[in-house]
Amino acid sequence: MSKKFKIATLSVHGENRKPKAYHAVSTPIVQTSNYYFDKSSDVADFMKLKAEGKVLREHEYGRYGNPTQEECERKLSAIEGAEKAILFSSGMSAVILTILTFVRKDGHIIFTNDCYRQTRDFAVNFLPKFGIEFSLVEPNSNAISKEIKDNTNIIFTELPTNPYLRVIDINSVVETAKKHNLTTIIDATMATPYNIKPIELGIDIVIHSATKYLGGHNDLLAGVVLGRQELINELYKTQRMIGSIADPFTCFLLERGLKTFAIRMEHHNQAGMKVAKMLESHPKIEKVWYPGLRSHPDHHLAVKQMKGFGSVVTFLIKGGYKETCKFIDSLKLFIITPSLGGSESLVTQMATMSFFDYPEHYRKAIGMTDNLVRIALGLEDSDDLINDLSQALDKI
Ligand code: PLP
Repeated sequence: MSKKFKIATLSVHGENRKPKAYHAVSTPIVQTSNYYFDKSSDVADFMKLKAEGKVLREHEYGRYGNPTQEECERKLSAIEGAEKAILFSSGMSAVILTILTFVRKDGHIIFTNDCYRQTRDFAVNFLPKFGIEFSLVEPNSNAISKEIKDNTNIIFTELPTNPYLRVIDINSVVETAKKHNLTTIIDATMATPYNIKPIELGIDIVIHSATKYLGGHNDLLAGVVLGRQELINELYKTQRMIGSIADPFTCFLLERGLKTFAIRMEHHNQAGMKVAKMLESHPKIEKVWYPGLRSHPDHHLAVKQMKGFGSVVTFLIKGGYKETCKFIDSLKLFIITPSLGGSESLVTQMATMSFFDYPEHYRKAIGMTDNLVRIALGLEDSDDLINDLSQALDKI
């Protein structure tokens, strides 16, 4: 199939459709740990092709991949506009194994701050153990440029960030990286390929937690890394050693979720904008962060680079811990849990849910006050969600 198709079509068919076992329309779950050969000469032929690098995903052993995974990767690379995709068992295994694959001995990695908490913890708590230096900088290319050293080889960014939904100027990051011959990696989980295409803008590697919008139903864990064939081949060598593959059933669920990806994203974008506007005008709300609002510090960059802004909205309740808990506990439709991008709407009080174990002074320094709330809208009717938020705010 050709690249002229839009995301909704690519999410259903991908490109270069392949025949399916038993002529099944949906992709069968191939639940096996290993794959047999008919005769010894087939083994020899297969190994020869493998040694010449002519087969990437060989069906030989489960740790090296599975056919359901391959089908999912084919669709994901078509949606992203990438040469190749590789699936992992979670977003975090995708993040960490990508960094471990491309990091250099005695190297230095620049991360933009306000990135996903576990990514930051990996930088702070793990990289120094291997003699790898890191810097955490503001999400802009000036701050990045200032930190570049002789041993820097990776810039790792996120877009939009969590929870403040900061949006970096990708063009200027790419320009800086090219000048210094650095590899650029972006975690675009919160944007998704529906709202931004970092590879078209010159980024080398894109990562998504497929647990979120790509899977879309709060029922699976997976991560995907996309980029040029030569880069993904390197990453594949790491996965062959370590595993951390997305299992066949997870891939089945993910592929099923992808079929409605574009329709869901359209709903998420509209609901996010509507709810963000309502919250911003509400007398019991102190401040709202949503890239689609003019008041967001990166609104101009978001509008320039993104098609829509998703369904995560972060805000401050007027009040403290007590008022915030009262609001959250009064919600009828929103479920108290982390995560985002699924069918059910979720609510998180950031300080207690995601940052509870940080010392209070550090939480305050990064803005994690008791009245900071993040909501991730699901697929419910957005008027029902607005009514639910209003009635809960009235309870304060
Ligand atoms: N990156 C971002 C931006 C996330 O929000 C998350 C999870 O919330 C992850 C990575 C990790 O993904 P997973 O939970 O699939 O490991």
